[in-house]
Amino acid sequence: MANFFETKIEYLKGVGERIASLLKEELNIFTFGDLLQHYPFRHEDRSQFHHISDVNENMPYIQLVGRIQRVETVGEKSKKRLVAYFSDGTGVLELVWFQGARWVAKNLKMQTDYVVFGKPNRFGSKFSIAHPEMEVFIPQQQEAKPLLPVYATTEKLKRGRIDSKALVKLQKNLLQRAYEQIPENLPEYVIKHYRLISKRDAIRHIHFPEDLEWLEKARFRLKFEELFYIQLRILKLKLSKMAKSPGQVLCETQLVHDFYEKYLPFDLTNAQKKVIREIFEDLRSGKQMNRLLQGDVGSGKTIVAFICMLIAIGSGAQVAMMAPTEILAEQHYRGLKDFAEKLGLHIALLTGSTKTKERRTIDQMLRSGELNILVGTHALLESHVQFSNLGLSIVDEQHRFGVAQRAKLWQKNENFDPHVLVMTATPIPRTLAMTLYGDLDVSVIDELPAGRKPIRTVHRYEKNRLSVFGFVREQIQAGRQVYIVYPLIEESEKLDLKHLEDGYESIRRAFPDTPVSVVHGRMKPADKDFEMQRFVQAKTKIMVATTVIEVGVNVPNASVMIIENAERFGLAQLHQLRGRVGRGAEQSYCILMTEYKLSKESKTRLSTMVRTNDGFEIAEVDLKLRGPGDIEGTQQSGVLDLLVADISKDGKIMQEARVQVLEILEKDPDLCQPEHLPIKRHISSLKQHTINWSKIS
Ligand code: ADP
Ligand code: MG
Repeated sequence: MANFFETKIEYLKGVGERIASLLKEELNIFTFGDLLQHYPFRHEDRSQFHHISDVNENMPYIQLVGRIQRVETVGEKSKKRLVAYFSDGTGVLELVWFQGARWVAKNLKMQTDYVVFGKPNRFGSKFSIAHPEMEVFIPQQQEAKPLLPVYATTEKLKRGRIDSKALVKLQKNLLQRAYEQIPENLPEYVIKHYRLISKRDAIRHIHFPEDLEWLEKARFRLKFEELFYIQLRILKLKLSKMAKSPGQVLCETQLVHDFYEKYLPFDLTNAQKKVIREIFEDLRSGKQMNRLLQGDVGSGKTIVAFICMLIAIGSGAQVAMMAPTEILAEQHYRGLKDFAEKLGLHIALLTGSTKTKERRTIDQMLRSGELNILVGTHALLESHVQFSNLGLSIVDEQHRFGVAQRAKLWQKNENFDPHVLVMTATPIPRTLAMTLYGDLDVSVIDELPAGRKPIRTVHRYEKNRLSVFGFVREQIQAGRQVYIVYPLIEESEKLDLKHLEDGYESIRRAFPDTPVSVVHGRMKPADKDFEMQRFVQAKTKIMVATTVIEVGVNVPNASVMIIENAERFGLAQLHQLRGRVGRGAEQSYCILMTEYKLSKESKTRLSTMVRTNDGFEIAEVDLKLRGPGDIEGTQQSGVLDLLVADISKDGKIMQEARVQVLEILEKDPDLCQPEHLPIKRHISSLKQHTINWSKIS
């Protein structure tokens, strides 16, 4: 039966060689199954007529009924177009044709009721529809018009006369034959419990819904199924990894106690303690740890990482810590070095700019086991870097690294896969974390160190510049330091630098007696470092920078973050930048400078920043604004290939699906029970297809 869906598309009625090859090339449709899964991206709702007086630019495709009052040709040359003034008694709307105007003009009739269908646009106070679909209005035929599917096509397909309407015909043909054969791929009790419709009804109604309610039911069913199988894949992977990989037992805590009693400069927050306990449980469990540590900027992840390192080192293992940039790696190195040396531990830094001679020493000390901690960039992944006994790998700011790189760190120990702790700087919405990191256990630091005052964030314009600078002066006089950040414009590094240089000049003029540092991406690492250090040591009071300072940089005395052209930054980036201040006990400020003219989305971003300091809340807004495609890390995860579900909107369904999958795997890890047969069958049919399920069963 499954073979039916593997039938080549050329065997469908109405599809010849020519159409088949177009479908393959343009839409990746090779089989009956592929075509059935080419769901419409929307439906035309022909069930109601709108009034022109109610039209607004946010409406999707709408249907109107009325008459044409007059027709004229306007514009010159390439701007030439035909405009028909269309009225339904409540108002007038312009119908516009840029192409085929002569033919249209000849055929349009006055004194005739037309049904017009299209997407309204707004120009000033006028509304128009470009290239509308039109037909003569015949009252008897208007009743009970179904929702018409609209399919994605391409220019090439349209030229080959395969437009959406042609696809509708093909789908109808296919569905007639396929319906009876569509197998159910969810267990019956799951279907009952979530009140899902059957798979075959879902397929039918996603294409040709009886009404909006059925369309909704079909969507829900298909979303649930899609997320169910994503979660099944992830959780299976996680379980098999847990079952397979033994881990080094790391449980000696004397070193931690020494550090705790003698050197720890503050009390840990309860959240930090809780997370350390969770990690400790993993390290001593005898199974390999794969854990994600999430915490908002400034929540104190570094010290948690260090304490975990001490458990590993105390138990005789080495540790590696990898950061995405040299600046960050160096900062981690410097931060950890003080502590490490007090405890008599050996620590080294390995980056792209480490000299060959030093590299050799490091390699040697690593192999002999003398070196306890190696901090670095992805230079750590190179093959000559070999440890004597790597016990714990910590990856900071994970979203900059791919899953493949994470896996490379596992291979650095021949006897046991090292334990892996991944730390993210940017909070990730729960739904996304469940998919991107679904194979990891998650710990969250949900509390900031005591005494932190929430950062005050304001939005200011160019006309406020004098008072902003006045405020900066006050802060510097009070002993604080200030960041001023300029956007990085990828298309033009020159322009980027120009912004920064102009900014620097105006700051020099406004603050002639104040020492200023500059850091940007085109400086040599050594120069960057020199400038950073001057700022860290408070020799300079103002740091003018591009976003190179975005992640991780830690100068607790800095209390003001000014972000120039803040409208050009994404939310996650704004939040990261703001996180550079508010790290000391002083009240800190973030000033978002923008132009007057702002897009709707920019306004939402700015007002979100002003409203909240909560990284998780910001991440949710970000996901809604941008969708998952632009969020780092999603590219490799497959969440972008979803057919119906949308990670940014369907978090609740994802959660439900996950709970259900967990329940099933607990009861029946190999899916052997008869009620789970539909799942097994579905997985094996997928196996024949493109998805690689090899790790599953
Ligand atoms: P992030 O989670 O953003 O990496 P860091 O680890 O850089 O945060 O910590 C931010 C700052 O907070 C550092 O200066 C660190 O020393 C300090 N810090 C961390 N934990 C505590 C704590 N429990 N009490 C007070 N300060 C802390
Ligand atoms: Mg950090």
